[in-house]
This record gives sequence, structure tokens and C-alpha cells, in this order.
Amino acid sequence: MSHKLQVGEMKEVYLIDKDIWGHFNYIFSSKSKNSTTYKFVLVKSLLENLYNVNERLELTYDSLFSSFAKIYWNLVIHHNLNQINMTGKKAEVQKILHDIQAKYQLPQTLVFDKLSHEVQIDVITKVKRKCKLNVMGALYGDTGSTIYDFDNKTEMIRINPAFYSFMQRFQRVLNYLTNYQLALFLEKFNDQGDTTNLLLKVENVSKRASLDQFYYLLTSLYKGNCFYCGKLIKKKESAHVDHFIPWSFVQADQIWNLVIACKSCNLSKNDKLADDRYLSSLIDRNMGILETDLVHRSDMKVYSERKLTDLYKYSIDNGFTDFWAPKKIII
Ligand SMILES: [Zn+2]
Repeated sequence: MSHKLQVGEMKEVYLIDKDIWGHFNYIFSSKSKNSTTYKFVLVKSLLENLYNVNERLELTYDSLFSSFAKIYWNLVIHHNLNQINMTGKKAEVQKILHDIQAKYQLPQTLVFDKLSHEVQIDVITKVKRKCKLNVMGALYGDTGSTIYDFDNKTEMIRINPAFYSFMQRFQRVLNYLTNYQLALFLEKFNDQGDTTNLLLKVENVSKRASLDQFYYLLTSLYKGNCFYCGKLIKKKESAHVDHFIPWSFVQADQIWNLVIACKSCNLSKNDKLADDRYLSSLIDRNMGILETDLVHRSDMKVYSERKLTDLYKYSIDNGFTDFWAPKKIII
């Protein structure tokens, strides 16, 4: 019963892409036990955290379950969607979230991002405590004990390098696949829930309602000019926080990937990749961050120039080949 395991060691086997596709096919097939949406949300959380690993490819449960808890809050509370394959029953995670919602008397409309820091920590801690017991061993078992080492005591995983490289190279298609399977499950087991445009909801369930908190963090480093065109941005309302590597690819908000841009650059860049001279500028900007107090943030602790360069390269490999640069540059 692998889903009951509390610790698991990665099997040392040589894996090629074909084997790993086989493991993902199995996870999403009817052969894998999927009585709840747990495995789909865990895979989604892993993909969101690909660049939060350290150089040994270790990832903390705090990081992993921040994503996991956020996704579930938005699915269960905000969208009112059942997460188990039985009507009239609730998955454990639903019970936890409904209890927290009742405890703080929170309206259903609130997305995770809008909860107070205190409530967010409460949600993450409780979801992590309960769900780690069932989900970490389950995914490990589905991949024939090859995807990661995990330990529910130390609350760390170490991802298999072959799986890690595979997830980087096929990140976009794995995201599509996971979102599609999750939406399919939710459609099947939700009669009353908010099932209109389900795939769109699942795709956007991780997106922040506002990037304002990053604006305030970045202003300490920014001299008032757009990162791309150099134009002076006079008002805060005209300043946009932009994901240098598009959000649709990274699905995460690491400060080392965020810049302040003018409205026109942000809108015209949209879902495109900026050309590579901006990659060099961002590397320099991030070197500046390393000399400030922001260096203690958890996303900066795992930052490296190599990680950003790899992410840029993998976004091209994943189809972001439409390079963008502003029409007019002010020097
Ligand atoms: Zn601009």
C-alpha cells in the first residue's frame, strides 16, 4: 500500500523519456487509483515548483504544499467544486478547508491570494499535515518508486534528475495534460458545482489576484523606469509587474522573474518572451537583489543565474519562440 508509506527511497534505475511518459500515462489512466483529485493537484504543484528546488533538486513540503493548499482553496471554496468520486461525501481536504472557512467566517468569493497571511499559514499547515500522509506515497507508488525520495518527517523530497529534466523539457504539455485530466474528473463528479468553463478555471486556479505585493518589493531596486523601454513611469497605476518568462509557462511568481514595466510594454509583450538582451539585464538586476535584504526570501535562496538561463532556454523549447522587444527604446 504505497499511499500509506511515510518515507520512500528513490529506486536507482536508468530512465529514458519513453519510461517517464509511461509513468505519466499510468498516473492519468484508469489503472491508477484516483478516487480524489489529490494526484492531479500534486503533479500541478510539482510543476509549479520546478524552479524552487535547490542545487540537489530538493524541495521543501512548505513550498510544495503552499501551491497544493492554494489550488485547493480556489477549487473548493472559491469555485465550490467537489473533489471526490462520490456524491454526498467530501474529500479530507474539503473538510479541512470548510472548517477553516467557518472558523474565520470567510465569504466563498475570497480567493487564496486575498486571505490574510495568518489564515494562509493556517490553511497551508493543516492541509500539509493531513494530505502529506496520503499523497506523497501515492504518486511515488504510481511511478514504481522512481519519481522522488520523500520523507514525511523531515518534509523534504528530492526529485529524480531524469524526471526533473523531463518535466522541464515537457513542462507545457504536462501542464495541459494535468489541467485537462483534473477538469475531466471535476466535471464527472460535480452536479451542483460551478462547472461552467471548467478547464479555464483549472488553468487559472494558481494565478494571483494581484501582484501588488511584488511592486512594493521591487520599488526598492527600481529607479522609476520601465525595465524594457526605459520610459520613466510616473504613477504607480501605470506600473505593471511583468513576468519576464511568461506566467503561462512558469505558473509561479518568483521575484527573480518579475520586473516593473510600463503599461504599453506589458500589454504588448503579453504572453511572449523578451529577446535575449533582456535576459542579460535581468541577470544583472538579480545580482542587485542578492545584495539587498530580499536575499533572505525563500525564492531568492534557490535562485541562480543558471536557473534563469535554463528557464529561458526551456521556455523556447516549449514553444515560446515569438520573441518580443519594445518598438521604441529610451536610453
Ligand atoms: Zn516600457
